[in-house]
Amino acid sequence: MPRQQAKNLEEALRVVGMRPQAFEQAIAAAKAINGRVTDAIREDKTLPDARVAQALALATNIPWLPTAAADELDLAPLRDWMLDENGRFVPIRREGEVVTVALSYPNDKRDAATVLLAKGEQFRVQPCIATPRVIETLHYRYFVNTAERFDACIRAGDYSGALGALLVHACYLGGVENIYLEPGVRVGHIRFGVEGVRRHFRAMPIERDGDLDLSSGTMEGPFGRLINLIVNDMRVRDVQIHAQGALNEEIPESLRGRFDFRVEVMRTVHGLKAVLRPYDRHAEAADFSTLGLNQQTTERLRDYVEAPYGLVMVVGPTGSGKNTTIASLLFTTDAVTRSIQTVENPAELRVGSWAQHEIPRIAVGSEAEAQMQYEIVRGLLRSAPQVIYFGEVRDGDALSLAIKRVARTGHLTLTTFHDVSAAGTVASIREMRTAQGERIGADAFASVLLGILSQRLVRKLCRMCGQADEREETRSVLYEAGLGAGSAPRRASDVGCPHCFHTGYRGRILVYELLHVDEEMRGLITREAPVAKLYEKMGNSMWRCGLERVAMGLTSLDELRRVVRTGVA
Ligand SMILES: [Zn+2]
Repeated sequence: MPRQQAKNLEEALRVVGMRPQAFEQAIAAAKAINGRVTDAIREDKTLPDARVAQALALATNIPWLPTAAADELDLAPLRDWMLDENGRFVPIRREGEVVTVALSYPNDKRDAATVLLAKGEQFRVQPCIATPRVIETLHYRYFVNTAERFDACIRAGDYSGALGALLVHACYLGGVENIYLEPGVRVGHIRFGVEGVRRHFRAMPIERDGDLDLSSGTMEGPFGRLINLIVNDMRVRDVQIHAQGALNEEIPESLRGRFDFRVEVMRTVHGLKAVLRPYDRHAEAADFSTLGLNQQTTERLRDYVEAPYGLVMVVGPTGSGKNTTIASLLFTTDAVTRSIQTVENPAELRVGSWAQHEIPRIAVGSEAEAQMQYEIVRGLLRSAPQVIYFGEVRDGDALSLAIKRVARTGHLTLTTFHDVSAAGTVASIREMRTAQGERIGADAFASVLLGILSQRLVRKLCRMCGQADEREETRSVLYEAGLGAGSAPRRASDVGCPHCFHTGYRGRILVYELLHVDEEMRGLITREAPVAKLYEKMGNSMWRCGLERVAMGLTSLDELRRVVRTGVA
């Protein structure tokens, strides 16, 4: 990282892109709660956390540890260097007498030095600045052995403690989207859904109460006890087929107020299974410039979000990072002078500078859901919003609401939608009808649409164990796409390495396509042109974008095929 310097924090924040009005607001907010300016910025998310850390580094002339670089660290060799129980700082490197310590507030340097000296040896502390989230994650991932704590609690029969340890473990392991507790005949398995792929965590015995019907009999033993704890905490009385809810009392102290856990319970032939989905309310605001979009797509999306009105859609299946893309796009716009309001289900990320409205959990999945969404939108339209973010439009009614009541009445509307492709979305939407049977209509849709970004997340090859891909097939696929020259494709190692948990991959990257609406595209949509015509006009596709990533050796052809349907290039 090149080291620049700034006179003070204000200048540093300006260097990393903070608007003057946002800075004034942060000063006022910090005064109001007698707190730090940087904390006020992080809470309001008027600047991505990584930029705040970067500004602090500039202002104090301390090196900066970018989030991506922190993800690549392996701190296992530093395990003995547990510095601070509270996780305010973590050691990240040791070279002779110099210990590099990551901290989020420059003032913590003295404390870090004190703790190190207390260990009885002479060391020099070399600080570097990282975001609080990075430090917290490294702290839990490497210096608190949550997996061992889970095992110890199970052995001691403390199932509540075990569930707590499991949740903390999952929240900081990195990339865990779901925690599955799935019963078999005599053994129940705990698995994590990590970056779209399942990873086994623990197998545990199930004891049955003698009932021959495994599906309805009660499960005991460690696995059964964990399931029972979860179901009781959801406060549902009897699960016939399926129940939806959230954890309450069982969320451990250290995660409370920070993470929420949505829970789905279903009856299988072997008894109840549970899926827990953690939501990090205070996750770092993703930096739009680091999403990996090309220049043209970046510029177009930034133009959309500055437009006075219109509709922007981000489409893809669950877990394709749609909300992250929309949030990071919204963070590039001025939330101080422009009113940003959201209708979400749930509000995944809490942002102080937006007005967020959440559809009550009780209504989710019920007939009341659409009605509540309608009520919220009607209410917020009266409060003169300029930008409205509709988390997930599911049906014709919601879409009709977003298009006809919101986008067409002069508001910039952003929404996510479940569909496989950008051009396919156009075809799906023109067929959609409201509950009254009214069509959305290609005209109404085309008149407000600015663009549709379709996206997926593909896993990045592990940089420690990925190997050159010399297969003839890969070469010919790239060659046919005109990407043969100068390409350096790689593939995953069969056995992996500890850095990638033996999966061959670590981290993820977007592959995407953008349907940009200009006059010609608007005409095609209005005339209900076939999908192939829309693709032809788009001139870009997700498959092509993925092949470019393969040619650069960022991901493998196998991974691209796993995630993206081949064909349209
Ligand atoms: Zn590896």
